Amino acid sequence: MKIELKGVNYIYNKGNPFEVSALTNIDLTIEQGDFIGLIGHTGSGKSTLVQHLNGLYRPTSGEVLVGGLNTKDKGTGIKQIRQKVGLVFQYPEHQLFEETVYQDIAYGPKNIGIPENEIEERVMDAMELVGLDYMTIKDKSPFELSGGQKRRVAIAGVLAMHPRVLVLDEPTAGLDPRGRDEILGYLKVLHREKNICIVLVSHSMEEIARLANRILVMERGQIVMDGAPKEIFLEEDKLEEMGLGIPQITEVMKAISKKYPGIRSDILTVEEAYDQLRVLLGGEGIV
Ligand code: ADP
Ligand code: MG
Repeated sequence: MKIELKGVNYIYNKGNPFEVSALTNIDLTIEQGDFIGLIGHTGSGKSTLVQHLNGLYRPTSGEVLVGGLNTKDKGTGIKQIRQKVGLVFQYPEHQLFEETVYQDIAYGPKNIGIPENEIEERVMDAMELVGLDYMTIKDKSPFELSGGQKRRVAIAGVLAMHPRVLVLDEPTAGLDPRGRDEILGYLKVLHREKNICIVLVSHSMEEIARLANRILVMERGQIVMDGAPKEIFLEEDKLEEMGLGIPQITEVMKAISKKYPGIRSDILTVEEAYDQLRVLLGGEGIV
């Protein structure tokens, strides 16, 4: 399934003194196979953009097509879009409201008329996908869970709708490193094994470098860069001008490669750096 944005503009409070132009002329095609990292300074338009992907927001002008359906269509079109493109908001745990984890995850499928026996299966599968043990957690109140677990319940609720595209707005914000790594690990599996297209909004270059195969950089309501991580991180100066960095490990390896030309300068992860440093130090016993 493909998502296409054509000349999308979005203005908050149009026509009154508080008018804000949040998106300007966005042309973008998201392919089913993508794992997109969406990055940009606060206020650059990331949240506004992702809420267009499932028709929650509709463009002030321009159009958004999801699997060929226009988000401006009413009726069944928009229902299908909401189902196919799952959106996990920032701090999604604030939207958990049912008495039990089970009921919370079942809420969406119930709403679209999925039969009871299939709902149970969907809840079980969704919980498994985000590493929550069904038997021990299903009857708990979401409020008894840890921050990371709550967030995974919220993600499971979206997965239970069987989306083809999963959009997450800063899903790791405020989590400890372990909670963060767990969620990122599950996203990787969803993309690789379930062929779910992922759009991940993040302010961490480290996170995005590890996972995304395509990075979009936003600035003042526009997409100013679009490419593979290695291409994007070559533009260190441009990113810096926008108040964005490159992963620390990339920075360190760039510095080392200036002194040792045999070392690659386009390293994105600690694992890659390790391999390069082994080469430099003769192959053995450095760590
Ligand atoms: P980001 O997610 O990158 O931080 P947003 O999409 O939240 O960016 O915001 C883009 C612009 O739209 C900012 O200038 C922000 O102040 C403005 N904005 C966001 N939400 C609203 C709103 N509900 N009403 C008015 N302006 C808004
Ligand atoms: Mg935001």
